[in-house]
Amino acid sequence: MGEENLCGKGQIIDSISIDEIKEMIRTDTIEPQNENKTVEEEKTDSEVADGATDEETKELKEREYSHPVYKQIAFLNGKINSYSKAELIKNLKMLKLDTDGSRSVLAKRLKTFYKKTMLNVSGIQEQTGSSKIRILFDFYVIIDYEATCELLRNSDFKQEIIEFPAVLLNCQKGEVQDEFRSYCRPVLNPLLTEFCTELTGITQNDVDTAPLFTEVLTSFEEWLQKKKLGTKYSFAIVTDGPWDMGHFLKSQCALSNIEFPTYCKYWINIRKTFSNFYNTGKLPLSTMIQLIGREFQGRAHSGLDDARNIAFIVQRLLKDGARIIFNEKLVEGNARRRDDGNPFFSAPVHNTEFKAIQGKFRPNFPQRKSSKV
Ligand code: AMP
Ligand code: MG
Repeated sequence: MGEENLCGKGQIIDSISIDEIKEMIRTDTIEPQNENKTVEEEKTDSEVADGATDEETKELKEREYSHPVYKQIAFLNGKINSYSKAELIKNLKMLKLDTDGSRSVLAKRLKTFYKKTMLNVSGIQEQTGSSKIRILFDFYVIIDYEATCELLRNSDFKQEIIEFPAVLLNCQKGEVQDEFRSYCRPVLNPLLTEFCTELTGITQNDVDTAPLFTEVLTSFEEWLQKKKLGTKYSFAIVTDGPWDMGHFLKSQCALSNIEFPTYCKYWINIRKTFSNFYNTGKLPLSTMIQLIGREFQGRAHSGLDDARNIAFIVQRLLKDGARIIFNEKLVEGNARRRDDGNPFFSAPVHNTEFKAIQGKFRPNFPQRKSSKV
């Protein structure tokens, strides 16, 4: 790779080796381009070390972004944005990185690699510790509820949770470690519609022989406790969209006359994380799976299969270096409305709020009476 290509005169730049990156930084050969959007995007990505106070945060930020390496990263990002998919694959292959996924996914993978390498080589990473891949939680607990439904969605039909699945992902290992699943017996509409069974694969017998929601929630919490989640290990709930917590769980708890679980008050909406990280716009689960270069495994709208597929996405995001942090929370009142008119109670959680609660957020597991609905 020659300087000419790096300066943007060549059509294609070949893969850049670590030695070449060192050389670029030493001689400052890259001409910065106007890549402000990318720099801004990168700024939020590379926030400061855990536990830093606001003052420290400010100071570290100023120190970091005044370093010329950020201009160089911005320039490379600009180059990568102009690559075709074939060029991205060629570069990733030369770097021995995965080549699965759509153009946006591949571009982000390449940018993240160069950014990490350049920060490392220029010593920024060691100085601040800010760019290490950080494990922000020990575990992710991925939940995807299924609920009673009718063909024509309308807000007069009170949906009840009928499947409660959870997939436990070890963040350090990037591996799925366990699964929880129970069906729940609905009370308001104990007979499933044909449409509901067709959509979810859940049969009348599955729900007839299932415990009530409150008992299932108790079993789920026992499972969490057995795994030492919330005690020895930190964890975060992950869902696809705001509805699992903000609509299904919220209204089910009201119906069952129990408190909304503390550990579900903040969650990670993976649709948002995916969209922000790969710059794709918000997409349904099936499309996100396609974009990471996988086939959907199992049956769509089966809660456990949906949760397993969300877990694949989380694994891919972790591998590609995304910060998978709380980005939504429960809010009382001021519900937003889905297309079908159903309310959901969620608000965004920004980075500063995440930092304020990080490490301090401890779930409590109340003893629930299983005799309640
Ligand atoms: P999902 O996680 O996408 O499988 O959806 C969760 C729940 O939303 C389902 O169990 C249904 O109750 C409801 N739902 C999803 N898709 C539809 C649909 N096309 N029509 C009616 N209800 C739906
Ligand atoms: Mg589902």
